[in-house]
Amino acid sequence: MTVKKIAILTSGGDAPGMNACIRAVTLAAASDNIEVIGFRHGYNGLLKSEWVPLTTQTVHNLLQRGGTLLHSARCEKFKHPEQIRLAAQVLENHELDGLVVVGGNGSFMGALALQEVWDKPVVGIPGTIDNDVAGTDYTVGYHTAIQTAVESLDKVRDTADAFERIFVVDVMGREAGFIALNSAIGAGADHVLLPETFSTAEDELAKILDKLEKRRNNKANASHIIVITENLWPGGLNDLATSLQSKTGVDVRILSLGHVQRGGSPDWHDRVLATKLGTYAVQLIREDKKGVMSGIQHRYPAAIPLDPSKVERKALNDYSLLIQNKITLIH
Ligand code: ATP
Repeated sequence: MTVKKIAILTSGGDAPGMNACIRAVTLAAASDNIEVIGFRHGYNGLLKSEWVPLTTQTVHNLLQRGGTLLHSARCEKFKHPEQIRLAAQVLENHELDGLVVVGGNGSFMGALALQEVWDKPVVGIPGTIDNDVAGTDYTVGYHTAIQTAVESLDKVRDTADAFERIFVVDVMGREAGFIALNSAIGAGADHVLLPETFSTAEDELAKILDKLEKRRNNKANASHIIVITENLWPGGLNDLATSLQSKTGVDVRILSLGHVQRGGSPDWHDRVLATKLGTYAVQLIREDKKGVMSGIQHRYPAAIPLDPSKVERKALNDYSLLIQNKITLIH
């Protein structure tokens, strides 16, 4: 099929490297003489036809910039069929031959709904710090978010050591433990709490206390850092800190890393990934591939169907879980 004009939007939680995706799509399209426009503010901008032209000049020096030039947003009303039909009409009015949606699982549900009522390709690029999109090995933004968490945890270790404190640090991830597990390994944290393995508050508290006791007997690190995925502890972090402090008599501090993990310049990994996936997304549109994501599998871009019935929960790496448990018992 002849492709003359395509659009791109960024949706859901923002992630470092979304700009690199916009740049790659724009440059790959320009090299094939395809015009590109960007809808602003996720699906909101699509519904309102709020758009900007994207040219090689627009994306100059965009590769290394955090955030998203097009802004991101959540758009609840996009879940209603009449809004999806309105969006398809906007795409038709612009005489578009394809749409690229950069986002996570929710954004891909929107992309699929749109694909059902529009006959041109809608292609996803997994862009979320959470890495919770099944089918692709990695999502754009994930590596940078871990790097940010690791740098923060290193600093926490310095201050925690000085006062021989326990620190509970909460990292992002929604319902997935990828950021928590890998930042814990990367920063040498002493314990990690993950949605995938969490049982009950009582059991988990017992495990933490057991490990603290062993480490005290081993005369291990003076401080103890516990990494936890956001919103996981029933009753919140204060509740966990109070329980720990009363059982151990050790000073406990809590810290929520929060949105800093979404910001900053993407690292080299996310820049390369975004460039591969953005370029491949344009190729998929030219090949008229519908309802797929431009994802990465074993280092190569792959067209992965956006089929919700096939999307299982993406599993953590067993080996990473194993080593985290093994090494924290002895150091
Ligand atoms: P992240 O996980 O990084 O926050 P995400 O894309 O999963 O990214 P969501 O907030 O789940 O973020 O979804 C983003 C947007 O996708 C929603 O605000 C909505 O516009 C659209 N969306 C989500 N689910 C659906 C659905 N079932 N049908 C249509 N659109 C949807």
